[in-house]
Amino acid sequence: MLPKLTIMISKHIQQLKQSPTLGLDAKVRQLQAEGVLVVNLGLGEPDFITPWHIRRVAIAAIKAGFTHYTITAGIPELREAICKKLLEENGVSCHPSEIVVGVGTKQLLYHAFQVLCEEGDEVIIPIPTWSTYIEQIKLSGATPVLISIESPFRLTAEDLEKRITPKTKVILLNSPSNPTGAVIEKKQLIRIAKLAVEKSIFVISDEIYEKITFGKKHHSIASLGKKIKQLTVTINGFSKSYAMTGWRIGYAAGPKEIIEAMVSLQSQTTSNTSSISQKAALAALTGSQESVELMRLELEKRRGYLIKELSKIKEISFVSPDGAFYFFVDIKQLLGRRFRSSKEWCQKLLEEEKVALVPGEAFMCPGYFRLSFAASMKHVKEGIKRISRFIKKYD
Ligand code: PLP
Repeated sequence: MLPKLTIMISKHIQQLKQSPTLGLDAKVRQLQAEGVLVVNLGLGEPDFITPWHIRRVAIAAIKAGFTHYTITAGIPELREAICKKLLEENGVSCHPSEIVVGVGTKQLLYHAFQVLCEEGDEVIIPIPTWSTYIEQIKLSGATPVLISIESPFRLTAEDLEKRITPKTKVILLNSPSNPTGAVIEKKQLIRIAKLAVEKSIFVISDEIYEKITFGKKHHSIASLGKKIKQLTVTINGFSKSYAMTGWRIGYAAGPKEIIEAMVSLQSQTTSNTSSISQKAALAALTGSQESVELMRLELEKRRGYLIKELSKIKEISFVSPDGAFYFFVDIKQLLGRRFRSSKEWCQKLLEEEKVALVPGEAFMCPGYFRLSFAASMKHVKEGIKRISRFIKKYD
């Protein structure tokens, strides 16, 4: 018999927290495998399947044998299409050498933090936030500086200014926001850009939900002038707008020096993302955009239904999301007696009613749950029925 080995995991990985949303997803999958019918409103991905015109191009790429490594930064025609998109839709003018294509927005965010941040640096993150940013910042050695934004979760330049120190290296923006759905107003974005330029602070702008808005327009901070563009890394992907979560593809646009460093890091980590996914992403950008709008309209319908139904539950409150596909619901009134925290409340809901929601703790904002309407209308309706029943039961 071999002697038992003590495996020492590195300190920086030991302190890493697993993604709470992916953790919840694993739990739901396990219940489903046991034959339990779970209404999953915890999802961060659209229930739609990637549009056929995109899938067809990917199939053709496989048939044509487009199955080799590509250059690390991504195939030139895709980077050119991204430049065209950024110029036409976002007002950001880029050269293909200022673009890197990678394995999803998540990886590009990680690489951007690795390239810009190190021990001694601070990165400002508005809270509530997607927990991935915090863990990725810690992995870079920098310190995440969390600033709490009160409901209705509209970030202002003053909120940021109060927490700027000589160590502040980066401000992280995510608009439309996961989990609140808040969209930063252009007026505020201009003031944030001015502040970042004055203090020479970089901005990492995660714009993955840009195409999913309801009556509000998304603006890219990099479009607000040459100086702020020189300080901004715009990160985006295909997962949400084109229902391409499984393809693992996203991109970053920014100053050449930063992008070159990100390409260099990528060349030693994942190399290029899948050649097939790159062809599919090219089809997504250059093909018809009708399906993007059809998906958005379907989400808008579900949002409307939820505003109506959630308003009927007196014990909770919420702000209607201007973008993304989440409601961030205040359940503080339901806590204190039977349930001590939103985490406990969500656990009991899953146990008793088989509805999966993500507790606010996952977004550094206890007392809330995040409800995703990226699930089918059938599930949304059933979910609301069960949530109402659960609230009545413990009232
Ligand atoms: N950014 C935000 C704010 C997200 O909510 C998510 C996924 O939930 C991602 C990035 C990850 O996107 P990708 O699939 O491109 O890695």
